[in-house]
Amino acid sequence: MTIFYKFDGKMYANITNQCPCSCTFCIRKNGDGVGGSDSLWLEKEPSYDEIISAFESFDKSGIEELVFCGYGEPMMRADILISVADYVKKHTDMQIRINTNGLIALMNPLFDISALKYRIDKVSVSLNASNPDKYYQITNPKYGLPSYNSMLNFAIRVQEFVPEVSFTVVDYDFDEEEIEKCRERAADCGIPLRVRHYVSDNVKYE
Ligand code: SF4
Repeated sequence: MTIFYKFDGKMYANITNQCPCSCTFCIRKNGDGVGGSDSLWLEKEPSYDEIISAFESFDKSGIEELVFCGYGEPMMRADILISVADYVKKHTDMQIRINTNGLIALMNPLFDISALKYRIDKVSVSLNASNPDKYYQITNPKYGLPSYNSMLNFAIRVQEFVPEVSFTVVDYDFDEEEIEKCRERAADCGIPLRVRHYVSDNVKYE
């Protein structure tokens, strides 16, 4: 099973297939992998030892950044993610980024986000929309309408622990007006917004 893969010069960690959302643009709906990767559907959720073993055997030459982002929401396994980040920081100079839906307070209310400090260099949070109703339509979170504010609260709070925090939206079925509203929402939080481009049946992930 593919736990690590390369894409756009970065190394990606695919540690879970679990996710409480069903985004309209999710790449999982359009295929089994990203770029040239093999299937990212896991035979099972890999253990810490299996992840470390796969990390050790992966060709990491020239790789400067590890991104937790696969065919699932990486913070669904926040505790394992933190342990793996510890290992990577101890054995490499890689920067570490998490791409997340930002719903950790709903997915795992006991997780203390201060654990990200010194382990995670960047967090990219899926803003997805400018308001709770539109967010619910696009993201379909199992937690319902409160998900939007929970995501915003996480993004605002995590800036205390992680040096680089950004929001993203995917311009799938979006007009300029909605993107502009998303820019305003992101600016209100003091967080930069990146617009990801939905290309045909694939999202260009950075
Ligand atoms: S949060 Fe990510 S993995 Fe989950 S459905 Fe949305 S795009 Fe897919």
